[in-house]
Amino acid sequence: MPRVIILQDLADSIGKTLSAHDKTIPLYGRSFPQEDLFQVWGLEAKQGLAKIGEARRNRQGIYLSLQGKKVVWNQVNIIPYQAEYTSRAEGIIDTRLLAKKIVTLIGLGSVGSCMAVYLAQASVGRFRLLDMYTLSASNVSRHACDMHHLGRYKTRAVKDLILARNPSASVETFEEDFLDLAFDSQTERINGSDLVIASTDSTPCHFMVNEACLREHVSSLYVGCYERAQAGEIVFVIPGKTPCFNCLMEFRSKSLGKLKLKSRRIPYTNEDPADFQAEPGLAVDIAYQTVVATAYALALLLPDSPRRLLLDSQRNLILLHSGSQPRDKHAKVFTMPFDFILGRATRSNGCEVCRNLTQEDFENGTAS
Ligand SMILES: [Zn+2]
Repeated sequence: MPRVIILQDLADSIGKTLSAHDKTIPLYGRSFPQEDLFQVWGLEAKQGLAKIGEARRNRQGIYLSLQGKKVVWNQVNIIPYQAEYTSRAEGIIDTRLLAKKIVTLIGLGSVGSCMAVYLAQASVGRFRLLDMYTLSASNVSRHACDMHHLGRYKTRAVKDLILARNPSASVETFEEDFLDLAFDSQTERINGSDLVIASTDSTPCHFMVNEACLREHVSSLYVGCYERAQAGEIVFVIPGKTPCFNCLMEFRSKSLGKLKLKSRRIPYTNEDPADFQAEPGLAVDIAYQTVVATAYALALLLPDSPRRLLLDSQRNLILLHSGSQPRDKHAKVFTMPFDFILGRATRSNGCEVCRNLTQEDFENGTAS
């Protein structure tokens, strides 16, 4: 007899639909003939799913007919997915609290796509995804989406990855460039978020996100790679508590010298950003930055958990080097492979972006 897998919610609705006798409903999913396995994923045609059989009820009860093979209902492996999914995180993070959190991800490249999946695995329940690009062959070696998603919008493809980990998540997708949005639309995307994560290749975009998040009093996280992804930086901004992304400009230019964040949007040229070759870098190097950034994201989402210890508001610039010996410009900042530096920055009194937050707000750690 073949093995059949159905998630609990779907099994419940099959049971309900077949409460009357002599009914037949179609089953959609995937079959793996060499493994004698069927996965039932739905009762209607959806993208990527094929009809693999039917469910019926006769006098003996429900049975499935799958490509000519008959399977009685009590032989079906019904998976209580939601409970099993969160069981590994029990006592480590508050999965019920995370299920209510809204995370907005601006940029779904190698960093953003992998962070989205990690956050879904941690039980974050609500996502807004912004990215205007489609998945190309050159993305695949570093992206969370594999070649089955070629040509798809990164937003839609990452949404499927999130739902494949956490089927009860709700995901909104926006195929747009944050920089090109009108003021009201920018506010709308940010508003109500518990955390905004910007991981685009465009530093100007990060500045714009910083402004919008301070305006809306939303915490934000910025993840960027330096040339060739040998090193990267993470900045977290808590309105009223930390220096903002703009405040750090001065600090960065002093302490990082020639080390420049790669930027895909090149000012003063006609080059289409979509044609611009991204910096080379290996998935494994970017993964180090992604994992650390996700840990900061969870700390920002769960400020009452022990994870809050990561959030030193005086040290909100984190610099990381990949697993190779720092060379050239990088050797002036980093001393060894995997080097991890907590940059101590101060709020810039001249910062035009966060000057609306009074000094008192900063001292009290509360935004007005
Ligand atoms: Zn500032």
